[in-house]
Amino acid sequence: MKIATRFIHAGAEPDPSTGAIMTPIYQTSTYVQSAPGKNKGYEYARSQNPTRKALEDALAVIENGKYGLAFSSGVAATDAVIKLLQPGDEVIAGNDMYGGTYRLFTKVFEKFGIRFKYVDMNNADNVKKLITDKTKLIWTETPTNPLMNICDISAITSMAKKSNILVCVDNTFASPYLQNPLDLGADIVMHSSTKYLGGHSDVIQGALIMNDAQLREQLYFIQKSCGAVPGPMDCFLVLRGIKTLYVRMKQHCENGRIIAEWLRHYSKIGKVYWPGFEDHPGYSVAKKQMRDFGGMLSFTLKDDSVDNAMRVLSSTKLFSLAESLGGVESLINHPASMTHASIPREERIKNGLTDSLIRLSIGIEDADDLIADLQQAIG
Ligand SMILES: *Cc1c(COP(=O)(O)O)cnc(C)c1O
Repeated sequence: MKIATRFIHAGAEPDPSTGAIMTPIYQTSTYVQSAPGKNKGYEYARSQNPTRKALEDALAVIENGKYGLAFSSGVAATDAVIKLLQPGDEVIAGNDMYGGTYRLFTKVFEKFGIRFKYVDMNNADNVKKLITDKTKLIWTETPTNPLMNICDISAITSMAKKSNILVCVDNTFASPYLQNPLDLGADIVMHSSTKYLGGHSDVIQGALIMNDAQLREQLYFIQKSCGAVPGPMDCFLVLRGIKTLYVRMKQHCENGRIIAEWLRHYSKIGKVYWPGFEDHPGYSVAKKQMRDFGGMLSFTLKDDSVDNAMRVLSSTKLFSLAESLGGVESLINHPASMTHASIPREERIKNGLTDSLIRLSIGIEDADDLIADLQQAIG
């Protein structure tokens, strides 16, 4: 079955009690048992909920995986993965990734004795140099946020397999429309469902998808024991979002391409970060592992002062100045003070995330209107 069809029918079974075509929102905390221990597979809603189950089945389908698990946020999903580890274990992670992931690693998990090493993953050989017998997990994000670096998922997973190291890919930026890391050998795919999966900026949620039954059992145990589960209403919203993921992503990609090209040829612009440019250092890998290049991009202005960047950030009318991404409406963001403020300044600048960098999440409005807005804001 082709992707468009799979996304629409993923996890969608008519409700067994009424035939409702849409999965009902099972707003319940518990389930009545006919005798002690005799139930219909549902005991208590932290452990199981039918709306969540439908979503988790859909998540597995769209990522070509066997099992899906939904969490109350993207960082809660990341938190569950790190809880697979023990004190003394080491994690190798990218040096250009979502600020909240970096904060969780450094400020929460380091004090429990888990060690994190950060590296430029543009070149998979950099990762190899850091592997020790304590390395248990490689955490990657591609394309990265916000510099749109590309990491070669197959190169990383084949290296990791030789040393029995788990690989988790944060696939939030790409979405399953663009890339399926499990097909490239990853053990776990993580999503902030808040972004493209939900797609309408109206829900906070996270997801993990995997193929290995034992890994699923371990992560399910963490999900129910630690309790970061999403409510049924939020599960319904993400399930609904997934039905239009294909058409939305198609438009995000088309608009992304138009705006990236326009910015690149506009005289007031400095550098444009978008993996669909043939001279982007990750272009050949992106072309190999992604179906298209997405609707996320970053840029600097030719007058690269922070004041000028601030002026543009405050002047757009259609692009709303906000954190987050992946919704139908376009957003403009200042990573240094917003999404990536939790990364120390020296660390950021060293990795190329300057104080004047501007990030765009291109929505699915008419591209002409988006260009007109950027043009009036940039001047
Ligand atoms: C937003 C985001 C997260 C965190 O997800 P939340 O749903 O906000 O907790 C993780 N990774 C990436 C790439 C993100 O954009």
